[in-house]
Amino acid sequence: MIPVNEPLLNGNEKKYLNECIDTGWISSEGPFIKQFEERFAARVGRKYGIAVCNGSVAIDASIVALGIGKGDEVIMPTFTIISCAAAIVRAGAVPVVVDADPQTWNMDVSQIEAKITPRTKAIMVVHIYGLPVDMDPVLAIAQKHGLKVIEDAAEMHGQNYKGKPCGSFGTISTFSFYPNKHITTGEGGMIVTDDEQLAERCRSLRNLCFLPYKRFVHEEIGWNFRMTNIQAALGLAQLERLDEFVGRKRAMGALYTELFSGMTSIELQQTRTSYAENIYWVFGLVLKESVGFDAEEAMKRLAAKKIGSRPFFFPMHEQPVFHKMGLFSGERYPVAERIARRGFYVPSGMALTQEQIRTVASTVHELLS
Ligand SMILES: *Cc1c(COP(=O)(O)O)cnc(C)c1O
Repeated sequence: MIPVNEPLLNGNEKKYLNECIDTGWISSEGPFIKQFEERFAARVGRKYGIAVCNGSVAIDASIVALGIGKGDEVIMPTFTIISCAAAIVRAGAVPVVVDADPQTWNMDVSQIEAKITPRTKAIMVVHIYGLPVDMDPVLAIAQKHGLKVIEDAAEMHGQNYKGKPCGSFGTISTFSFYPNKHITTGEGGMIVTDDEQLAERCRSLRNLCFLPYKRFVHEEIGWNFRMTNIQAALGLAQLERLDEFVGRKRAMGALYTELFSGMTSIELQQTRTSYAENIYWVFGLVLKESVGFDAEEAMKRLAAKKIGSRPFFFPMHEQPVFHKMGLFSGERYPVAERIARRGFYVPSGMALTQEQIRTVASTVHELLS
C-alpha cells in the first residue's frame, strides 16, 4: 500500500526527544516550548508565537482573543475544514461564506465585499492545499471596512505571498502541526501575532485563564490548550528542515504535474500564480465532467490498487450540522460543490519516493483512460 501520508522524522527528533526523557521535562513546562515558539515566530516574521495542542484550537483561541462573539459575523471560505467555521460558531458568532476560485481552489476574494454587513467583524482567510489566498485585495477590504484578519496558515509552513511569509498577514495567524503538514509535532498548533495584548490573551486562554497574580482565581473561562515539551522537541527538529521539506514537496508537485500533463480528464491546482509558487501541501486532482464517475468511486478504485487517497474538503454551507442550526439555508456555491464531489488527493507525504509517485501516476492514468 502506498500511504497517503508518511512523515519524515530522521533529523534531530530522536536526540531532542531523548533530552525530554533524560531531563524529565515532558509537560508544557519544559524548555523546548519557548524555543519552538520563538524560532517559529521568527521564521514567519512575527513577534509572538503561542504553541497550542493542535491547529483547530489555535483558531478557537484566536477568535475569542479578538473579542469576536455573539451577533458578530466572520466572512470565510466555504471550501475548508470544519475547524474554521466551528470556532466561529462556538464563540457565538456567525460564519458567512464565499465560494472557491476554480483555478486556485482558494476563497474567491472578489465575493468578499458583497458579504459585508454592519455586523461583520473579521475576514478569515484559509490558504488551501499549497497556494496562498490573494492577500492584497483582502487586506485592502479589511482596512477599508475596519475588519480584523484571521489567517489560517495550517497548510502553509514555508510558503510566501509576494515574497512575504504566510502567517505574517493576519491580525492573528494560526498553524497546525498535524503529521500531514509540512512540519509536524504529532498533534500541535501555533498562534502568531505582532500584537502583545493579543498574544497575552492567547497565552491566558491556552492555560485556563489562571490569573498571573492569583492562581486558581479566574475572571474568565479558558481552556487547557497547552503543547507539551515532547511535541515542541519534535517541532524544533522539524523546523530545522523546513526549507528542505518545502523543496521536497515542490519536487513532488513538479513530478506529478509532469506525469499528469496532457491528461484531459483532470484539473490540477496551478503550479504557480503571479504571487506564489505552489508548495503542494497535498497533490489534488479534480475529475472533469467527461469522467463518468466521481471522486468517491475513483478513491475506491485506487484503494483496490493499493494506493491511498483522501477526499477534498466538504463545503461548510452543505454541512448537516450547520443546517440544523439554521445556517446557510438555500445558499449555493457551485465551484466548492463541484470540487468537493469531483476532487481527491493522492499520496503526497514527506517520505514519498519518486518511484511511488510514478506508480501512483501510472495507476491514475490506467484508471482514467
Ligand atoms: C489541518 C488543518 C487545520 C486543523 O489542524 P489540526 O491540527 O488537525 O487541528 C485547520 N485548518 C486547516 C486549513 C487545516 O488544513
